[in-house]
Amino acid sequence: MKNIVLFGKPGAGKGTQAAILKKTFELVHISTGDVFRENIKGNTPLGVLAQSYMDKGELVPDSVTVDMLSAEVAKAPNARGFIFDGFPRTVAQAKALDALLEEKSMRVNATIGLVADDEVLIERLLERGKSSGRTDDTDAEKIKTRFEEYNQKTAPLIAYYSDQGKYEEVNGIGEVTEISAQLSAIIKRL
Ligand code: AMP
Repeated sequence: MKNIVLFGKPGAGKGTQAAILKKTFELVHISTGDVFRENIKGNTPLGVLAQSYMDKGELVPDSVTVDMLSAEVAKAPNARGFIFDGFPRTVAQAKALDALLEEKSMRVNATIGLVADDEVLIERLLERGKSSGRTDDTDAEKIKTRFEEYNQKTAPLIAYYSDQGKYEEVNGIGEVTEISAQLSAIIKRL
C-alpha cells in the first residue's frame, strides 16, 4: 500500500504528475480541486459552498474538505494506494488524513513537493487559464490570493512531514517525463 501526497503551489504540475503516477503505480488519484469543480458543475450544495471560496482564491474550510475527502477515500475500498493531489493543504487537514488512514491501518508513506518560482508559476497559470476555463487561473489577484493561502496555510506542512522523515522535494521546472521519472524513483524506493 503506497499513499502519496503531492504538494506544490498552484501551477506546480501536481495534477499532470498525479495523472502519470496513478497509471504507473495503479493508485487511486484524488484531486480535491477536481472534486470541488465536479460539484460546481453539478450545482450540488457542496459545489455552491465551495465556489464561494474558490472564486476568491481562498481555501474551502477544513471541515467541508475533510468530509469530502473521507467520502472519496471510502469510494475506493479496494485501492492499492492513493495519490492525494491538492490535499492536505492545512495542518488540520494533514492530521485528519493521518486519523482517517490509521482507521484503515494505512498511513501517508511519502509527501513530495514540486518546487518552482512564483514568476514561472504565474505565467503557467495565466497560460492554462486561456484554455482551462478556470476563472481562478485568469485573474492575477486571485492567483496572488492562492499563493498567499499556500504560504500561510500549506507551507507549514513541509515541517509537519519533514519531522516525520516523510518529505522530499523535486524541481517542478523541466520536461514532464523527467519530472515524473524523479517522482517514480522516490515512490519505488518506498
Ligand atoms: P486546485 O485544483 O488544487 O488548484 O484547487 C482549486 C481550489 O479548490 C483551491 O484554490 C481551493 O479553493 C479549493 N481546494 C482544493 N483543494 C483544497 C483543500 N485541500 N482545502 C481547501 N480548499 C481546497
